[in-house]
Amino acid sequence: MDFKSEISKYTIIDLDKLKTNKTKCPKCGREFNYVGKKIICPECKYIFKLND
Ligand SMILES: [Zn+2]
Repeated sequence: MDFKSEISKYTIIDLDKLKTNKTKCPKCGREFNYVGKKIICPECKYIFKLND
């Protein structure tokens, strides 16, 4: 097995495990994927938290 296919295999497993969610920035309205509860908007760098 070559190195590249090994990497892509593990990348797929990692993404599946992380379970990214989609949210919308309350400041600029940009939609993006996030992991966890503390979120930083990639567009305007606004930091916000999600409630459970
Ligand atoms: Zn934003």
